[in-house]
Amino acid sequence: MKKLASMLVAGAMLSAVAAGCAQSGGSNAGGGEGGLPTIGVAIYKFDDTFMTGVRNAISNAAEGVAKVDIVDSQNSQPTQNDKVDLFITKKVNALAINPVDRTAAGVIIDKAKAANTPVVFLNREPLADDMQKWDKVYYVGAKAEESGTISGELIVDYWKANPAADKNGDGVLQYAMLKGEPGHQDAELRTQYSVKAIEDAGIKVEKLAEDTAMWDRVKGQEKMAAFLAAHGDKIEAVLANNDDMALGAIEALKAAGYFKGDKYMPVVGVDATAPALKALEDGTMLGTVLNDAVNQGQATLKIAAALANGETPSKENTGYDIVDGKYVWIPYVKITKDNIADAKLN
Ligand code: BGC
Ligand code: CA
Repeated sequence: MKKLASMLVAGAMLSAVAAGCAQSGGSNAGGGEGGLPTIGVAIYKFDDTFMTGVRNAISNAAEGVAKVDIVDSQNSQPTQNDKVDLFITKKVNALAINPVDRTAAGVIIDKAKAANTPVVFLNREPLADDMQKWDKVYYVGAKAEESGTISGELIVDYWKANPAADKNGDGVLQYAMLKGEPGHQDAELRTQYSVKAIEDAGIKVEKLAEDTAMWDRVKGQEKMAAFLAAHGDKIEAVLANNDDMALGAIEALKAAGYFKGDKYMPVVGVDATAPALKALEDGTMLGTVLNDAVNQGQATLKIAAALANGETPSKENTGYDIVDGKYVWIPYVKITKDNIADAKLN
C-alpha cells in the first residue's frame, strides 16, 4: 500500500516536470523570474557614444516589462556569438542583437531559429536575405539614406546663405569626408547620400580627402589633422558620418586656429549627442541629425518583449509601425542651433 502511494506520488511529480518542460521548451514564450520574460541583449561594444544612449533606453523601457541582461560584445564577432550561445543555453525568451559584423547576422539567426528564440536586430542592418530566413526576425533602425540627405542639406543651406563659403571663389565646394566603419550601412549610405544632396542642389563638389575614423572621436581628430596638413585652407566643408568624429575634427580645426576671429569651417555630424548639442550652442558645429536613441531602444525592447510573450509584434502591442512584417524605422530629424530643443526632448 505504502509502495503504491509513493509510486503514485513519483508518477505525479514526473508528469508535472514533463508538463513544465513542454511549456517552456515548446514555444520559448514568457514567464522568467518574477513572471517577467527574459531578453538577452548583446551590444557591439559598450564604448560607443550613440549605442550607450540606445542601451540606456533599452534598460529604461524594460522596467516592469521584461528582465534584460545586456552584455558587451567588445567589438568582436566571435565574442558576440559566444554570448548568444550562452543566452540560448540560459533559455532567454528573446534576443536583441546589435551585430559587430552585420553580415554575421545569418549565423545568429540559424542559432536562434534552432532554439526557437525570436531575435530583434538593431542599429546594424542584416542583409535582406538573412532577414528572410525566419519569421521571428525583426530589425529596428533608421534609414541611413535619410541621415545622409539631411547632413548634405545642412551644408547646402550654409553654402547658399554664405557666398564667402566658397573660399577660393571657384564655384566648387571642396570638402573632406570622415567615414564611419566601412561596410556599416550608415557609413556607406551617409557618405553617398550627403554628397548626392549637395549635388542635387546644383552645387559642384570636389572631394579633397576621405578616410574612415571608425565612428571614433580621437581617430576623427587624427584624420582631420592629417587632412589639414595635406590640404590646409583649401578645405571648405567637413562632413562626418557621426558626431564623435565631427567633434574630433573640430578639435583638430581649433588647434589649427579655426573658430577664432573669422576663421570658420562648416562641420556637420549625425546623432545629436549631448556634446554635439553643446558644440552647436558654442557655434563650432554647424549642424547634426537626430539619430533617435530613445525611440530605437524603446522599439527594440517593445518588439522583443512582444515576441518573448509569444505575441506577434504589431502597432497595438508595441506602439510602432511594423513595415514589411519585420522592420521598424525611426525617423531622423535635422538639428541646428535653431531647434536644439527638438533633440533635447529625447
Ligand atoms: C551611429 C554611430 C555609431 C554607430 C554604431 C550609427 O548609427 O550614428 O554614432 O557609432 O551607429 O553602430
Ligand atoms: Ca571652392
